[in-house]
Order: sequence, then C-alpha cells, then structure tokens
Amino acid sequence: MLQIDLISIFPEYLAPLKLSLLGKAQDKQLLSINIHDLRDQTADVHHSVDDTPYGGGAGMVMSPVAWGDAIDQITKDDEIVDLIILTPAGRKFTQKIALEFSKSKHIIFACGRYEGIDARVGQYYADKANFRVHEISIGDYVLGGGEVAAMVIIEATARLIPGVLGNPDSLKEESHSITGDGEDLLVEYPNYTKPANWRGLEVPQVLLSGNHGEIAKWRKAQAERRTRELGSE
Ligand code: SAM
Repeated sequence: MLQIDLISIFPEYLAPLKLSLLGKAQDKQLLSINIHDLRDQTADVHHSVDDTPYGGGAGMVMSPVAWGDAIDQITKDDEIVDLIILTPAGRKFTQKIALEFSKSKHIIFACGRYEGIDARVGQYYADKANFRVHEISIGDYVLGGGEVAAMVIIEATARLIPGVLGNPDSLKEESHSITGDGEDLLVEYPNYTKPANWRGLEVPQVLLSGNHGEIAKWRKAQAERRTRELGSE
C-alpha cells in the first residue's frame, strides 16, 4: 500500500483524487490518499502561512513554521518518506521518476502557493536520515499552486503500482514506457476503434488484416515516425 499525504492551503482543489482509477485503487487498498489543510497548523486568528521575503521583492513566501509542523505530524521516525516539494525550479517529472515513486511506501506532497515555500524546509528534511527530498517540476511554465502538479504526479505514479490498472498489458508499448532494458524512448502508435469508416476516414487496412506480424511492423514504424516528428519540432 502506498500512503500519499498532500499538504495544501486549498484542500478542496484536490477533490478529484477520489475519482476514477485513483478512487478504485483506494477502494482496493493499494493506495491511501490523505489531504491536509496547512492552515490547520496555524495558531493566529488569520491562519496566516506566508510572510514577506527576506531581501525584499514582490510577493509572499510560505513560512517554514507551519510546513515543518504539518510534515512532522504525518511522519514517523522509523519510516522512509519521499517528500516531494513542487516547484517550477525542480527536476523535470518523467515516466522514469513516476516508476521510482511507484515503489515508495509513503509520499508527502508539499503544494506551494504565492512565491513558494521557504527554502529551509527542503534543506531541513534532506538532512534527516529517513527523508528523501525531491524538488519536482511538471514542466517549464509557472502554475498558481502545486495542487495540479501533485495530481499529475499521482495519476502517472499510481497507474504503475501493480494491481491498479485492470489490464497490466496496457502499460506495455505505451508512450515513454520503461521496459526491463531501460527507457523506451518511442511514443505510441496511433489507435483506432469501430466504425472502420468514420466520416469518410478509413482505418488503415493493415489493422483489419488479422496478420499480427504485419500489424506489429506497421505499429513500430508509426511509433518511430511519430517520435521522429516530435523530435524535429
Ligand atoms: N516564485 C516561484 C518561481 O519563480 O519559481 C513560482 C511560485 S508559483 C507561483 C507557486 C507554487 O506553484 C510553487 O511553489 C509550486 O508549488 C507550484 N508550481 C508552479 N509551477 C509549477 C511547476 N511547473 N511544477 C510544479 N509546481 C509548480
């Protein structure tokens, strides 16, 4: 069972994590997802979690005090924890990292807002023996908060946990799939279903031929073509 805790000032933002594949994985007890409101850690009347940046500049920075209290409350000293701090300045998320996270037992997502989280939070937990700290970005653009990024990472990670997908064969031949030999850098071939003619557009004949060898050859060529075209963009 993978335990996932998310800490955010907008817990409502994370409601879709109960749906679809992730909801079923929780029912099957392959996954447990717990959402925590960072503001529950604050004692002041305004429940403030941010303050002005040292050194000046625009915006507000999330204070390490509430973050430290929230993280401590959901961790035990005798467990290994992967703490994912979401930031556009982090390592770019890939299928390979999703596979690494799918083997974890406990992941905590720190969803930042404003100008981000005080840098000492990552530094403090990186020095603890039972924490692995990952600063992760989902792409070279800036979101308003880490919630959507956390959902992207959870969805990509959870479907790699054995038992989560109804048909594990769905993971084979997927775009960016990782085989025993390493990363398969091809994206997937195009897919078609019934009807064979839709608005004048025919499904490629080879897929209707029943010749598995020819179908495999065609799909490989299509995957290579798509990958090449992406590379030249
Ligand atoms: N001042 C930060 C910077 O320039 O790197 C941007 C802060 S952003 C407005 C607020 C929060 O959104 C971040 O703390 C992070 O949690 C989240 N965020 C924004 N873009 C992200 C991305 N590309 N990947 C992951 N998280 C992101």
